[in-house]
Amino acid sequence: MRTPIIAGNWKMNNTIAATKALVTELIPLVKDAKAEVVICTPYTDLATAVELTKGTNIKVGAENVHWAEKGAFTGEISADMLVELGVTYVIIGHSERRQYFGETDQTVNARVKAALAKGLKPIICVGETLEEREGGLVEEVLVRQTTEALKDIAKEELANIVIAYEPVWAIGTGKTATAEVANDTIKIIRDTVAKLYDKATAEALRIQYGGSMNPKNVKELMAMPEIDGGLIGGASLKAPDFSLVVNY
Ligand code: PEP
Repeated sequence: MRTPIIAGNWKMNNTIAATKALVTELIPLVKDAKAEVVICTPYTDLATAVELTKGTNIKVGAENVHWAEKGAFTGEISADMLVELGVTYVIIGHSERRQYFGETDQTVNARVKAALAKGLKPIICVGETLEEREGGLVEEVLVRQTTEALKDIAKEELANIVIAYEPVWAIGTGKTATAEVANDTIKIIRDTVAKLYDKATAEALRIQYGGSMNPKNVKELMAMPEIDGGLIGGASLKAPDFSLVVNY
């Protein structure tokens, strides 16, 4: 019922030359994918990625967007700028932004609203730290992050939103949540959305798992009923690996 979506998060990797090589290699490898395929690239690679993927089944996303339309925000990028480039998706609230760049639930919400207002599709990242999991706070953290991220977002907009459940302890560590843990935790997020909106809206929402998803564990994770795709960091940087995940 929900179309799976596999998105690569390149983070701060790949020059324009590397982007050309990676995307050119990737296009034929993922052309028959059942899942929606997205690559989220650094700002400097977006134009190249959009140009190369024209007429293919690969969509391009950015890794962040500012909440203001324009103005004195040195170093930031607006939704209009991304739309003009032909970008479709944008990652918002990645744990690295929360950890290193002062991202809060409130700024996540402001960015989501700015993205939606211009027709960009947010991939909203939520997830608990190891301390929070060990402290029994998973539900509290995810309910808070999800509720705040979606504050004042109309029900109709949920069709344009993807949530990525990314346990912080599983990102870039090689530690994957077991398929059962990922599934049960995503269920908490879906139940939260059902309470905020309604059951049908929650059932239609796509929720990805992210955290060391790779060609070896993708099948098991994607077999779980609540998991609608993946946000892929490390394994999105090599075309053969990413294509194996996409074609799970
Ligand atoms: C990510 O950065 O969103 C991520 C899931 O990274 P990795 O796959 O490398 O754990």
